[in-house]
Amino acid sequence: MRADPAEYKLVSPGNLHAVLSLMAGKPAQWLPIAGGTDLMVLYSAGKLPNRKLINIWNIPELRKIEVFPDSIRIGAACTYTSLRSHEIISREFPLLATAASWTGGIANQNRGTLGGNIANASPAADSLPALLVYDAELTLISVRGERRVAYRNFHAGYKQTALAVDELIRDISMPRRFSGYFSHARKVGARNAQAISKVCLAALGRIANGAMRDVRLALGSVAPVPFRLNETEHILTGKQIVPALIETVKKSVAQEISPIDDIRSTARYRAAVAGNLVAEFLEKLSAERANA
Ligand SMILES: Cc1cc2nc3c(=O)[nH]c(=O)nc-3n(C[C@H](O)[C@H](O)[C@H](O)COP(=O)(O)OP(=O)(O)OC[C@H]3O[C@@H](n4cnc5c(N)ncnc54)[C@H](O)[C@@H]3O)c2cc1C
Repeated sequence: MRADPAEYKLVSPGNLHAVLSLMAGKPAQWLPIAGGTDLMVLYSAGKLPNRKLINIWNIPELRKIEVFPDSIRIGAACTYTSLRSHEIISREFPLLATAASWTGGIANQNRGTLGGNIANASPAADSLPALLVYDAELTLISVRGERRVAYRNFHAGYKQTALAVDELIRDISMPRRFSGYFSHARKVGARNAQAISKVCLAALGRIANGAMRDVRLALGSVAPVPFRLNETEHILTGKQIVPALIETVKKSVAQEISPIDDIRSTARYRAAVAGNLVAEFLEKLSAERANA
């Protein structure tokens, strides 16, 4: 442990109003901590510059999952374990439940939260591609009020977000309209468990009258932010899945991404894998259609 606990202060107001008031009083001084699975890694490495932490783990409004007829609303401090074990999430949002099951080991899933994954804004974060394809919307809250931001507009660049310094993510909403879709999630890492993604994919689509409709593809770890493959989706819409189309799509994926070399992988490997994952989705979608 390279950090000195005596240099840090942690407060736990226990209710949302008190948390927001403290964050508004001296903006940028207080850093929210939820599960701590990202922050405590920085802390123990001696790399956490913020000395004042405000606990939001125990705030009831941030811990509930509410199901409405047309949408689901997930409190930002809900853990991966709570996402994985939720019946509606598992059934209607399997890409999110699957991403939750990938995120570290069981201990990490018991502490890590969806809001923390979003705010931490790693391009390799596993739950974020799922939020993109499910059209997630965030509610951001401060003493100034609340505002809703489409998740696709939340990341402004590498590790940059739309969050103001006095704001919290309160919840994440998703429309309940993807039940009939074929979905496919894939994470490629150094090993199956406890590995940060080299590439991860969340994909949704359906076939009507032999042609693809509403294809949704999102990738992580191949650009400064997780993103939707808009051009590739456009190419696929209305088409039948044939081998020549899959080759065209691999080229389109390569043009849309901007992977880098880093300690986990190379740009070349990431580009090849990204194209192969999208191809795999199309092959599975085609096979599922043939078996239907
Ligand atoms: C062993 C290990 C394995 C891991 N494996 C994976 C993995 O496979 N995939 C993956 O994606 N991640 C992984 N992680 C990273 C981490 O678990 C996730 O990013 C997790 O979702 C972070 O949530 P948290 O509540 O612990 O965040 P915290 O550490 O509490 O906070 C992270 C950041 O988010 C901010 N924050 C938290 N909640 C809010 C909120 N409601 N509003 C505004 N800001 C907020 C904090 O201020 C901080 O900047 C791993 C971490 C560890 C330690």
